[in-house]
Amino acid sequence: MLDRYHIIAQLFSHILLSIQYDIQYMVQKNKAEWRTVQLPKELVDEVEKILETDMMKKKGFASISQFIARSVNHSIEEYEQKRLQHSNTYDDKVRILDNDMGRMGDIVTVFLKDSEKKGFCEYCESDNCVHVKFMWELPDVVKILKKHGFNSAYDNDITS
Ligand SMILES: [Zn+2]
Repeated sequence: MLDRYHIIAQLFSHILLSIQYDIQYMVQKNKAEWRTVQLPKELVDEVEKILETDMMKKKGFASISQFIARSVNHSIEEYEQKRLQHSNTYDDKVRILDNDMGRMGDIVTVFLKDSEKKGFCEYCESDNCVHVKFMWELPDVVKILKKHGFNSAYDNDITS
């Protein structure tokens, strides 16, 4: 008969094995969804040096790819925040300034379709574009939309 310590030890080794398997599986699964891009050698060398510092080791970056992916994500977020700005809210529409349109940016109108309880972007002719999504990220607008029975199609609905 196995004593307690044996049982516990076995249990732990089993847990460790399954964690190892999960990590391996995640890496393999993700690899298929990765693409290769070329970067200047100096840039990669610089990132490599940064990752060797104690500060970065503490942050737990596993690889150069992870560091670059996170940095690019950050830049994309910054770009998206600067791209769109709330302009006006009316009873039946929300106007959004899109700085990506034309040289000076342009106003996009999202109509609030009461029959469908959905926003509809005039420019994209869509109820699921970057402008409609942005509308659902504006706390003041969302409050009004909710009051009129509109429902967000997005997971990041801030009021739910
Ligand atoms: Zn749009």
